[in-house]
Amino acid sequence: MRIVLVGPPGAGKGTQAVRLAKELKIPHISTGDLFRANISRKTELGKLAKSYMDAGNLVPDEVTIAMAKDRMEQEDAVNGFLLDGFPRNVAQAEALDELLKTEKIKLDAVLDLEVPEEEVVKRIAGRRLCRNKAEHVFHVTYTPPKAEGVCDVCGGELYQRDDDSEDTVRTRLEVYHTQTEPIIDYYKAQGLVATISALGAVDEVTKRALDALKRDGDEEK
Ligand code: AMP
Repeated sequence: MRIVLVGPPGAGKGTQAVRLAKELKIPHISTGDLFRANISRKTELGKLAKSYMDAGNLVPDEVTIAMAKDRMEQEDAVNGFLLDGFPRNVAQAEALDELLKTEKIKLDAVLDLEVPEEEVVKRIAGRRLCRNKAEHVFHVTYTPPKAEGVCDVCGGELYQRDDDSEDTVRTRLEVYHTQTEPIIDYYKAQGLVATISALGAVDEVTKRALDALKRDGDEEK
């Protein structure tokens, strides 16, 4: 399956993406994680991306599309992938369509995670990430680690993302509404969008997502 996950910052895209990718046996491709890995490795791309990310803005399309394309062309993604955080504007969605056309493949679904704005701010303010692995994500209230500041899975140090500060979150939300939301209509025109509520327990949302993807698949048969 080839899936795009879309939703505002704090909708739980990363958390759900890890679970869905495991269930569907496809790689989870997060452009945010790829940028953060570049920042940790202090690459040129990382240095460039950091200035945009810290301000809550989108990294320029040219480098983002090249990075996403490179990742999608790796061998583990031949039979499918779950895109998390890409595309994030219509130009990126068009570039993805071009790439898929060249490869003669199609997207199966665009899963749209809906969450009220006040919930988004609460979720982001409490979010903590593991320094060792981007996929180990906690929340100080909703999914707290057993020991404060320590990852339950690998013992790594937990930290708050630089761009999770309140000011940056406001910019990221604004960017989401003006630049990313239009891709939902773009994909609706292709009949690909399944919208689900991202409220409730993590397990419940995963189940809702899998049901929606299955429903979509059944309708196509
Ligand atoms: P995320 O981890 O998906 O919340 O992304 C964190 C930040 O990385 C975003 O606020 C952007 O600055 C940058 N970013 C991630 N994906 C993209 C993308 N597709 N296009 C442009 N910037 C991106």
